[in-house]
Amino acid sequence: MPEVEPLTLHEIADGVWTWLQPGGESGVSNAGVIADDDGLTVVDTLMVREQWEPFAAAVNDLGRPVRRVVLTHAHIDHVGGTSAFPMASVLGSPQTSDLLDGAMPVDAYKSFMPAFADGFDELAELGTRPVTHLVTDAAALTARIEVLPATGHTDGDLMVLVPDADVCFAGDLCFFGVTPLAFQGDPAVWAEVLGAVADLAEVIVPGHGPVGGEREVRDLQTYLGHCAAGSVPAGPWDAWIERDPRDTINIERARLLAEGRDEIPPAMLRALGY
Ligand SMILES: [Zn+2]
Repeated sequence: MPEVEPLTLHEIADGVWTWLQPGGESGVSNAGVIADDDGLTVVDTLMVREQWEPFAAAVNDLGRPVRRVVLTHAHIDHVGGTSAFPMASVLGSPQTSDLLDGAMPVDAYKSFMPAFADGFDELAELGTRPVTHLVTDAAALTARIEVLPATGHTDGDLMVLVPDADVCFAGDLCFFGVTPLAFQGDPAVWAEVLGAVADLAEVIVPGHGPVGGEREVRDLQTYLGHCAAGSVPAGPWDAWIERDPRDTINIERARLLAEGRDEIPPAMLRALGY
């Protein structure tokens, strides 16, 4: 895998840049940029101003218009910076659109990610931009870019594929070196979807953690399979951050779904301060 420098626009392929935030814990996500003849497409927008302001400034320094923002899903650490790209179309799934149209649960965000409390106060004032274009089917977005709807992490995930560069921006369908979080997902479905993700591209840019490829996707798939089965044995995930409480959240979520209960797991409610 390429060595990718964090907190800068790192050109991992011709006209394809990553913006990786080191750590990858809750609230610390990745973004990307892709160049086409008509301008730029931004993939995800980070969360609070201290994160998205330097990202948007670096995108601006590329000297090309930002035509489109693709949101991989509705979680606030991916959609918080939409207002930094005021002239761009905003593409997302219907589920992402619905969530952005609703009230921002600021108090829950503060309980779950207390390090960013001040940023959430500002974000509550500023708001996020609505989705302007719904993505409901796999589609060629530009000459270079395909958008691929999926489910697993949420019920409205999108991936962004750049076939000529062999790069896939997987959003939170991929967490590398960081325990995935399925409080609104389905661990069993997610594991199944990852079987296809591994074949999409050589280079996978995850929503959290460093850039990876097939091996990282397969490890994630195996871990989620264990969560769906109810317990996680020793494995490569022992080196991941945030195992506690995410193991419990993921296992509880799988069990609830197996009982036909599409509910937020108790361990996640506790983390959110309820
Ligand atoms: Zn997410």
